[in-house]
Amino acid sequence: MAGDQPYRIVIVGGGTAGWMAAAVLARFLTPSHYTLTLVESDAIGTVGVGEATIPQLQLLNANLGLDEFAFMRQTQATYKLGIEFVGWGASDSRYIHAFGGVGRQIGQTPFHHYWLRGLSLGETAPLDAYSVNAAAAYGGKFQRAKPQAPQPHDLAHAFHFDASLYARFLGGFAQSRGVKRLEGEVKAAHIDGQTGHVTHLSLDEDRTVAGDLFIDCSGFRGLLIEGAVKAGYESWTHWLPCDRALAVPCASVEALTPYTRSTAHRAGWQWRIPLQHRTGNGHVYCSSHVSDDEAAAVLLNHLDGAVLGDPRPIRFTTGRRKAFWRHNVVALGLAAGFLEPLESTSIHLVQSAIERVLKFLPKGAIQAVDVAAYNAQTIFEWERVRDFIILHYHVNSRSEPFWRDCAAMAVPDSLTEKLDLFRANGRITRFNEELFAEPGWLQVMVGQGLIPEGYHPLADSEKAQEVRELLGLVRRSVTKRVAEMPSHDRFIADNCQAA
Ligand SMILES: Cc1cc2nc3c(=O)[nH]c(=O)nc-3n(C[C@H](O)[C@H](O)[C@H](O)COP(=O)(O)OP(=O)(O)OC[C@H]3O[C@@H](n4cnc5c(N)ncnc54)[C@H](O)[C@@H]3O)c2cc1C
Repeated sequence: MAGDQPYRIVIVGGGTAGWMAAAVLARFLTPSHYTLTLVESDAIGTVGVGEATIPQLQLLNANLGLDEFAFMRQTQATYKLGIEFVGWGASDSRYIHAFGGVGRQIGQTPFHHYWLRGLSLGETAPLDAYSVNAAAAYGGKFQRAKPQAPQPHDLAHAFHFDASLYARFLGGFAQSRGVKRLEGEVKAAHIDGQTGHVTHLSLDEDRTVAGDLFIDCSGFRGLLIEGAVKAGYESWTHWLPCDRALAVPCASVEALTPYTRSTAHRAGWQWRIPLQHRTGNGHVYCSSHVSDDEAAAVLLNHLDGAVLGDPRPIRFTTGRRKAFWRHNVVALGLAAGFLEPLESTSIHLVQSAIERVLKFLPKGAIQAVDVAAYNAQTIFEWERVRDFIILHYHVNSRSEPFWRDCAAMAVPDSLTEKLDLFRANGRITRFNEELFAEPGWLQVMVGQGLIPEGYHPLADSEKAQEVRELLGLVRRSVTKRVAEMPSHDRFIADNCQAA
């Protein structure tokens, strides 16, 4: 509260980011202390993509008290156990970055060192033979992790959903808890000449909306964060050069695969996201290496069902705002910046930014120290995800010019450090609370073709035969666990089939 007046929070934009913010704030803020208003423009619309998620979304849904099966039914959702990468490391390669753990912790030595020793002993089973998630994904199986007796490496799941249905779902939740929705286009943001803060917005038809804190969820245009408070943009196109996408749905023709597929092409890659009522597809590409017409032809040639509509073009510049919070404007979602959708991290970055807004929620005047801490934490998070995505492009042995350029580029020092550590002796360090943990880095580094020269010396403690037996035991336990599960289709039909 500012004095006796409720603190006025204004959200601009009603895409996934805007309605996620509205729902979470409505859930946690005391209504008599805050007013929440969301402005969105039907004429401008939303970006309309963003269908694959990571497991942390379960926490958001749980915090909102949403029933998972109701959420699945209302958003035409399927389960996601990981992402399959086809043709990424080499043209004929295939691997899965599965959620959850790989293998089993043995004493202090991470499992993959035993796997590496096994390779030196002639064992040939790939890393994904040791992941319950990977085996279930490839087997088309699904079951939620057993809550009463969780196994250390039982299934970890996320979702594929229809993004516009999710925004609508959250919109209903938020408005039923007091969020005021205004439909109309923001034409101007008015700034206080002394403080630099936004004071109010002008909409069409002479409406104005005043606020104390503005959350910019206006999408790529960054209406307030760039248009009003001029945060500036740091481009990452020298590391992530893809700058366009074409998105198109197609009919589902086969069993619902419980994973996203990402297929590398000549100068980019294609996503395939199975939903209950259709399959989402898109081609992300680099316009200096491939024309729009060729990109569209590649996309349409790689659909597994009848196309439903025309490919929709989207342009972007990878990078981030120099400040995510400036004056009294905080940017979320596409207004904050853009990282490739390769690891389905954008919606998660919205989720964690909202948690951070709550953590640094102002009371009265905005404190510079809060803003600085918010920005530092958000920059750290974005840069670590950025490195993980660059890894997919940089470590490859494909022959096309685009991929050779990616292999030759100088990468951030923080990524070089990770690669060097792994290359030498298979060590993986997780920097502080960075989003992707050791199993994610491991699966992608190995999947892209980076096999370390050595492994941890403690993996030599056991006799060769014992290591072979251990590896066999873990593989059999994975196979046994997956054999108990119903098919993904069966699980959905029994629990959360959309109408
Ligand atoms: C090609 C592509 C694929 C993606 N895939 C994934 C994925 O698989 N997983 C994932 O996590 N993320 C993905 N993303 C990112 C994801 O789509 C976004 O993070 C998410 O949809 C949030 O978008 P948004 O709400 O910030 O923006 P938008 O959806 O663009 O919403 C912007 C809102 O602002 C409103 N607005 C704009 N200007 C005004 C104005 N002047 N007045 C009033 N209202 C205004 C619009 O009407 C709209 O409501 C992808 C993004 C792209 C580009």
